[in-house]
Amino acid sequence: MLNIILLGAPGAGKGTQAANIIKKYKIPHISTGDLFRATLKQDNPISREIQKYINKGRLVPDKIVISMFKTRVQRPDCRSGFISDGFPRNLFQVKALDGYLEEINRKIDAVIYLKLSSAESLKRLTARWLCPSCNRVYNMITQPPKKDSVCDCCGVKLIQRKDDVPETVKRRLAIYKKETFPILAYYSKQKKLLTIDANAQVAVVSNRIKSALKKAKNS
Ligand code: AMP
Repeated sequence: MLNIILLGAPGAGKGTQAANIIKKYKIPHISTGDLFRATLKQDNPISREIQKYINKGRLVPDKIVISMFKTRVQRPDCRSGFISDGFPRNLFQVKALDGYLEEINRKIDAVIYLKLSSAESLKRLTARWLCPSCNRVYNMITQPPKKDSVCDCCGVKLIQRKDDVPETVKRRLAIYKKETFPILAYYSKQKKLLTIDANAQVAVVSNRIKSALKKAKNS
């Protein structure tokens, strides 16, 4: 069993790196952002409420996120562990997660922190486009599609996430600094924090993560 948290500013490459980690360690990827985006495809009072927060780049209320995360962890595929990307995002959520894991007799094994400057995050996020059909993510600077603005797999025209427009990105980065940054000190004290320089090519960052996890597992 391996329970991992993936932390980092929006745009640090958490989704991309999580995809590599799940292949290697055979654990499911839990992305609270993806779970919310799936909820938004339905039209009901809760999804309309959530949409207001997400489109403005604000955090969804803790109660909603925590309950959604718990429900996801209870699914059978999480018996082998999980990699959580986007949760916890503030100290309240950290404490709620700790309490819940204790209840189910589990613990966090490692916290991977993808470190990236705000300027680089802003640059990457505003360059991020995705396929509305298969959800494949492209970066117009580092991983552009083969053909202009069209998905390599489906041929569908790429779109930009509403919360990736520059003004909203700046708000998300400010919230990240204020709410999520203090979490690093918390996990560092517990000697669980693995800091990875994320300002490099995807494959390089992926190798850095693998060796940090290997070291942590052997120590
Ligand atoms: P992400 O894809 O992780 O950047 O998440 C997209 C949006 O979903 C965020 O900007 C928040 O509005 C919401 N969200 C995702 N995870 C959380 C969380 N742990 N707490 C509060 N809001 C969240």
